[in-house]
Amino acid sequence: MKNADLVSIAKQNGAPIYVYDADKIAFQYNRLTSAFKGVKNLKINYAVKALSNLSILSFMKKIGASIDTVSIQEVQLGLKAGFDPSQIIFTPNGVSLEEIEKVIELGAQINIDNLSVLEQIGTKYGNKIPICVRINPHIMAGGNANISVGHIDSKFGISIHQLPHLLRIVKNTNLNINGVHMHTGSDILDIDIFLQAAEVLFDIAKNFDSLEFIDFGSGFKVPYTETDIETDIEELGQKLTTRFNEFCKKYGKDLTLAFEPGKYLVSEAGYFVTKVNVIKQTTSTIFAQVDSGFNHFIRPMFYNSYHKIKNISNPNGKERFYSVVGYICETDTFASNRKISEITEGDLLAFSNAGGYCQTMASNYNSRYRPTEVLFYNNKAHVIRQRETFEDIVKNQVLLDFNNL
Ligand SMILES: *Cc1c(COP(=O)(O)O)cnc(C)c1O
Repeated sequence: MKNADLVSIAKQNGAPIYVYDADKIAFQYNRLTSAFKGVKNLKINYAVKALSNLSILSFMKKIGASIDTVSIQEVQLGLKAGFDPSQIIFTPNGVSLEEIEKVIELGAQINIDNLSVLEQIGTKYGNKIPICVRINPHIMAGGNANISVGHIDSKFGISIHQLPHLLRIVKNTNLNINGVHMHTGSDILDIDIFLQAAEVLFDIAKNFDSLEFIDFGSGFKVPYTETDIETDIEELGQKLTTRFNEFCKKYGKDLTLAFEPGKYLVSEAGYFVTKVNVIKQTTSTIFAQVDSGFNHFIRPMFYNSYHKIKNISNPNGKERFYSVVGYICETDTFASNRKISEITEGDLLAFSNAGGYCQTMASNYNSRYRPTEVLFYNNKAHVIRQRETFEDIVKNQVLLDFNNL
């Protein structure tokens, strides 16, 4: 979408605001499915936690995606957005058995990531419902330590070293294992390491004779800057397709190959637009202070992520160096020593790669409202979430009357 579109959307709806470009989401989806066109049955389960707005989910459904969920609330959002339970996989970590049973009642595909719950589900349901198991192949896909989930000390998945115990539980309780799954975390840069993890999963898969799908999770890295290396989806598509089809032949059945990308589909489609309140010159830098903070956009502070920042009010101005910070009463640095075209108070700054894990991680810290969300679809802006109001801030609070207690 164009600079001018962002400016007019922010002017019309006010800042701060999240804006998502539907075309970019569709582009990413098509790029992924094209890379795997050699696979007979492909299923893309969009990871709802990246961006969970109902209209985004509905758009995902329209372009052909299914969804991956990690809480019963996400399952409910998916159902509300129009997904059939058969299009929903539930991949929780450490949630209660009660929650899993409620999701079973809703009809979603269950993916279990620990032996304790697996044994309890097996004992209660036997082969009445198909179950997928999440395996931890203990292969590190790289990236920030907080988002790597494949390492030996990770809380995610059933360790490959527990395979004998896993198989015993399946046999003892007559479980119907219809899928095996892995998700090694974000930021896959080395395709060969990913393929090594896939080999581990194929090795596990051989042990089950009623499989319907193999889910390779996600972790596709998207570029944040022009020089960033991204996951080479086309290379991955070529190599994994060959290997997957080989496996299916040996297995004797055309299985479904599933992925569950979050960031890959939505990250680059999103812009977070803020307004500059104050330009503050100090002894060491010039601060541009925007009308937001890590309450709305936590990734730079939380993951040390780099987001391009563009002064969309003055895109061709002379470039200067700024520290872009927020307005909350805590250090909330979005960028330090960043070259941006000259900023005047009142200008609009657009942060890139704001589609994934931005709005869904937003809070009311400093009692601020969570921003408006807009979907740019068919060259038109559609508000898909209203900005909060003071009513939202107080609606669940109870004001005690201390004179009468
Ligand atoms: C978070 C998550 C994803 C999505 O990860 P991205 O890096 O956003 O693609 C996929 N699968 C599971 C199980 C997850 O927890």
